Parts: sequence; structure tokens; C-alpha cells
Amino acid sequence: MKVCVPACSVVDGCAAGSGPILRIAVPSPLYKTFDYLPPLGCDPTLLQPGMRVRVPFGRQNRVGFLIEVGGESEINPAALRQALAILDYDPILPVDVLALIQWAQRYYHHPLGEVFATALPVLLRQGEPALLPTLSPLWRITSAGQSALTDTATLRRAPTQRLLLDHLASCSGGAESEDLRPVVRNSAATLRALRDKGWVEAVTPVDPAHPVVSSALVSLPPPVLNPAQAEVITTVSAALDRFQVFLLEGVTGSGKTEVYLRLIEAVLARGRQALVLTPEIGLTPQLLARFRERLPGPLAVLHSGLNDRERLNAWLLARAGTAKVVLGTRSAVFAPLRAPGILIVDEEHDASFKQQQGFRYHARDLAVIRGHQLGIPVVLGSATPALESVQNAHSDRYQLLRLPDRVGGGAEPPILILDVRRQPMTEGLSQPLLERMRSHLARDEQVLLFLNRRGFAPVLFCHECGWMSQCPHCDARMTLHLRQRRLVCHHCGDSRPVDRTCPICGSVDLRAVGHGTERLETALHQEFSSVGIARIDRDSTRRRGSLETLLADIHHGDRRLLIGTQILAKGHHFPKVTLVGIVDVDQGLYGVDFRSSERMAQLILQVAGRAGRAEKPGIVVIQTHHPDHPLLRILVSEGYPAFATAALAERRAALFPPFAHQALLRAEAVDPERAMGFLHTARRLAEPMAEGLELLGPAPAPMERRAGRYRAHLLLQAARRQDLHRFLNRWIAQLWAQQVTDRTVRWSLDVDPIELY
Ligand code: ADP
Ligand code: ZN
Ligand code: ZN
Repeated sequence: MKVCVPACSVVDGCAAGSGPILRIAVPSPLYKTFDYLPPLGCDPTLLQPGMRVRVPFGRQNRVGFLIEVGGESEINPAALRQALAILDYDPILPVDVLALIQWAQRYYHHPLGEVFATALPVLLRQGEPALLPTLSPLWRITSAGQSALTDTATLRRAPTQRLLLDHLASCSGGAESEDLRPVVRNSAATLRALRDKGWVEAVTPVDPAHPVVSSALVSLPPPVLNPAQAEVITTVSAALDRFQVFLLEGVTGSGKTEVYLRLIEAVLARGRQALVLTPEIGLTPQLLARFRERLPGPLAVLHSGLNDRERLNAWLLARAGTAKVVLGTRSAVFAPLRAPGILIVDEEHDASFKQQQGFRYHARDLAVIRGHQLGIPVVLGSATPALESVQNAHSDRYQLLRLPDRVGGGAEPPILILDVRRQPMTEGLSQPLLERMRSHLARDEQVLLFLNRRGFAPVLFCHECGWMSQCPHCDARMTLHLRQRRLVCHHCGDSRPVDRTCPICGSVDLRAVGHGTERLETALHQEFSSVGIARIDRDSTRRRGSLETLLADIHHGDRRLLIGTQILAKGHHFPKVTLVGIVDVDQGLYGVDFRSSERMAQLILQVAGRAGRAEKPGIVVIQTHHPDHPLLRILVSEGYPAFATAALAERRAALFPPFAHQALLRAEAVDPERAMGFLHTARRLAEPMAEGLELLGPAPAPMERRAGRYRAHLLLQAARRQDLHRFLNRWIAQLWAQQVTDRTVRWSLDVDPIELY
């Protein structure tokens, strides 16, 4: 839709070729902005950064974003094209979001157009008008209305009002006035009469899928804070008017969410908004449910499960300030806020905050930058904070706040290291673990087995000739999924049916090697089917509603043996689980990545944290062939803070992040020579200006071939961040020039990579 600024047409003297230059970010994989002349007859004084502009781009039209109204262009003015139309009356992007986008573009050295594409709802980028959604209000009964209902005398002479009130009392989510028409005659007048008495109220729903729930009806009184919580809240509340990063470290169940809720209440009371980032919303509805229960007023939710329209609506409600609380996943860090008051990042260690393709930003780090730009506090919460954050706390850049104990005083479950060397194993489970499972299940309790590998077995192999289920496109094995009778590559997604015989020698002696969740489920079925088994992984929860069904079964005790991957480690609480078995920790102990042990520790504690309650704390059993692994021992005997200190000491000694700063240049091509060739050129370009930097590589990636392309890396490392970025500024510009000569190579830069494969 084309909207021209109304005053434009009356201003003359703005013909093509004159007037200021519009610097515009156009969605394109190119690194730079593009210069245009203002649209014909447009008053340039009305133009502001953050407005959308329709521009000709190649042979198409695109929607771009005005970055600045500049004086001069490097391009010959005669060659400049003219923008076609201004699409907004006001800048659609608040200044602070525009600033954050530009900061992120500079820091991650990524094409600006793609940064916009990540940050903004697709409909806005397509030029959709930024009109606030119109929502019909929901009518609901107030507590005064509830009392009136119970008092028969009050309503005796108003039967119509009574009928309507009665009806509303049964609609816990409220009802639209349209729906009330059939209930009584003249429902509109009756509603007005009831409203004037204070017995009903109209509330604005936010997203149609989840109408606002009446807080007066469902909310429980908030708990009395324990002293540790109270102290945390006092400390953060004293800093609501300035930038300060707090690292809230507290074991699962220590009351962090309660702290968030209180801080948000304090921020709302000052007429400000809160932005809360969380790794997952679809798979972990509990957090959202608690927010809805406790926080009055509209809440906007931003996550990948929304359709384009819902996303735009939520975005606009946040921007207008209608939604007081915005809860979202990674890209919500760019959500516009009218009156931002606090930024909260829950489970701040979670890897999903880092985007792993395209524009590889880290939402937690950007939240800190945004808080700094806005002058508001940032709270990073976790039971197992990232070592980067712990180091920032150690060096006093972040203020560390601790909630040391589980609420209600219950102890954390003890962790037992089970040495399985030379032990007879049944389908990956040792006898001592099986014994414990039996006794816990016999006591009517629940057991959780954690195995971070879905499918039946990670490889199928021929005992006759040695054939293995190699993926034809990747340096990886295809996983056997027996239920579907398919081999599936978890790296490129390719799959094919399983034959009964070896594709090479025709032998029928095919064997599944190793264990996945599906195999564990099958193996345990015979002995434990009577207790009900719930397998929870990406395969078993793919269908809509299936996870909810499984969770409900577990909650009611219909299924008492839980087998799952890391989906289990996120957000869910299983109070009846008293035994957690970590089936295979060894993979994580000696991974290729220097972050392996950190991830292993976080996963163990996150899984452990799902279990038990004060009265039944339970136990965690870890099966390993490396019972003396030093970091594992520290984690188990002294807890996460001690583990983090020890792991940081190792990182410091090895000069790994956070004691060094990295960027990874990745290249991939169908022809391996080309990918390596590009990186060699890149290295040659780098060498003369790489002062204060270490260049490592180029080298083939740990998994060299993936989806039919060969991948290689050049790792850059610097002791000081500014050295790295000063270098990147110059180098990336040269690489762009280089790229023009070889289009067969795809490359990307990953600043602060968290995965090196
Ligand atoms: P975390 O986010 O650290 O896992 P929660 O805030 O979810 O912890 O708290 C765990 C449980 O304890 C929740 O059911 C919560 O309602 C309850 N809770 C939190 N704080 C208190 C408190 N001060 N008194 C009683 N119950 C509390
Ligand atoms: Zn064979
Ligand atoms: Zn593959």
C-alpha cells in the first residue's frame, strides 16, 4: 500500500536530481546501503530515519528502510535513481531499534538488509501498512459481580442482568459482545448497566489465539518472598533507572521466575514495559501460562510458531505500548517498545539465543547492548550461566546475584557417578541403574532417562562386509529410525527406506550399532510397559498437541518412565520424578569443541533440575566410562559455581574465550578446492593487517562435507576485542571485492562463534 506523506505534494522545488540523498537499507545480501533521491514532490524535511521507502532495485521494486538523510553521495547524482514512495507517516522503527540494528550490523559485519530481515516482521518488509490490529474487547465478570451473583436479593428484580452475569461467570476467558447477543435480549444495554455497577469489565485481548485471562478470577496470591529473593529484588529495583547487568544464578526451583515477575510488576507500576527473552515458547508453555496468570494487562508473544499476521500484530502492540510485557524468543530482542523499562533473558546460557545461520547474532549479547543504549537494567538468569557471563561477573562487569537454595528448603538431588567400565550393559543400561529404576518404579514414583540421541541407532552396519549407513551427501552416518523403517541423516535431512539386506553384499546380517531414544523405548517396553513409557523427542512430539498429551499423561501418573532428549531439559517440571538416569555422558566429556564440557555440565544440571520436589528430592545417576574426569568430579561434588571457576581456569590457561575473542570465516563449495582456495586468499589478504591477531587455518571443518558441499574454516583470534574488530572492518570490505571473482563459494563470518564445526 502506498502512503505518501501528505505535505509532499504541496512542496515544490524538490525535483529529481536535487535535494538530499536518502541512504537506504534494501533487503539484499550486499553489505552496503544504497543511495536514492527522494520521491518526486516529496518534502525532505519530513523524512526521518526508520521510515519505509519503496525503491526501484534492479528491475524490481523493494521496500527499504531509511537509515539517514544525507548530504552527498559518492555516486554521480545524475546516476542516482529516485525512490518511489514513502510508506510511513512516522518512522515505523523506533530510534533505539534502528540504533541496535546498526550496531549489530557493524559488530557482526553482516549485510544490513539481512539484519533488517531478521529483526522485522515479514509483512512490514513487504510494505504492509502499520495499522494496529483492531480487537473487539472481551467482557468478563469482576469480583464485585461475583459477589452480586451469590447474593440473591441484589439481583432479584433484574433477571436479565442476572442471566447475563451468570453466563459471564461461566466464561473464564471472557466473551465478545457479539457472542452475548443470543444470551439475553438487548445485551448491549444490559452490558452497559452491568458495567456501570462495576460488575463486568471490558478488556482488550492481545493475540486472538490466547485471549487475556481474567487475573482476578484465576490468579493465586503471590508467594511470600524468601530472604534471598527479597534481597535480589531490592538490589535490582534500586537500579531501575540506569543500565546495569545482573547475572541471576539460581538452581532450578530457586524462585528465579518469581523474581522476574516481581521485577516486571515494579516496572509496570512505573508505566514502563518489560521485554523477556526465553529459549522456547512452543515447547514450554509453563512460563507463558505463569506470566498470563500473574501479570495484568495485555501481553505480546513473539515466537516462530506465529503466522505472519500474528507476528505483525504482536510487534505493533509492543510498539504502541499496548502490550506491557513482551515475551519472545531470540529475534524478539529487536522488538520495538514504547517505554522500555527492563530486559530479562531467561536461561541465558541457552545456545538457541545464538542464530546459527545467516545473520549470526547472539540475542543475549544484543540485549546487553540494548540495555546499555536505553539506560535500563538487564537481568540474565540461569541455573547454569554461560562461562562468558560468569567471567563478566567475576570481573565485575555484571553484578552477580545468587539464589542458592530451592524454594521450600528442599535439597538438590545428589548426583552419583556410575562407573560402567567392564560392566555388563543391557541396551546401554548398566545393572545398577536398572536396579534403581525398578525400585523407584515399584514405589509408584517416576523415572527419567536422558539420552540426547533420537532415532533407533546412530548407524546401521553389515556384519558380513562392513558396509555402514553413510549419508551420500555428508561426512556422517544416517540414523536408523526403525518405526518409520528409514535411514535419516540428521545433518542434511535426506532419508531413504531401510532394506532388509545389505546394499553391497546382499547379506541379511545388518546390525544396528549404538543407542537412540527409540531403541531404549523398545528395549524397555517388555519389562516396563505396565508403568507406561513416554518417549519425548523431536520425532514423538512432531504432531501438534502430542507433547501436551504426553505431559498430561506424565502429570497424572499414567506414564511413569520418561525417555527423552534435550527437549526434556527445557522448562518442564516433573515433580514425581525421583530418579534421573543420564544414559551416556561420555560423548560430551571429550567433544571436538572446547565448549563440550561446559555444555555437558549445563545439560546434566538442567536435566537434574526437572526432577523432584522438596519432600522427594530424588537422585541423579550418570553412567560414564570416565569416572575420574576432573571437571565432572568438581561439578558433582562442589556444584556449578565451582565447576565454572575450574573450567574458566582451563580456558584462561589455553587462551580460549572468554579470554580471547574469536571470529570464524566459513566457506563452502561443491568443489573442496574452491572453498579452501577462497580461505587461502582470505588469509593472504589478512596477513599484512592482522596485528594482534592469530590466524588459524584454513582447515577443513570437522564435518567436512555436509549436504553435498565441502566446508572449511579460517579461525581468527585476538586477545583484545578492539583489535579483532578493527581488523574485520578492513578485511571484510576486501573480501567482498574478492567474492565478485568467485561465485561458486559461499562464505560467511561468525563473530563470537559458539560452535566451531
Ligand atoms: P525457577 O524459575 O528458579 O526454576 P520458580 O520461580 O519457578 O523457580 O519457583 C519454583 C516454584 O516455587 C514455583 O512453583 C513457584 O511458584 C514457587 N515459589 C517461588 N518463590 C516462592 C516463595 N517465595 N514461596 C513459595 N513458593 C515460591
Ligand atoms: Zn554387506
Ligand atoms: Zn546428510
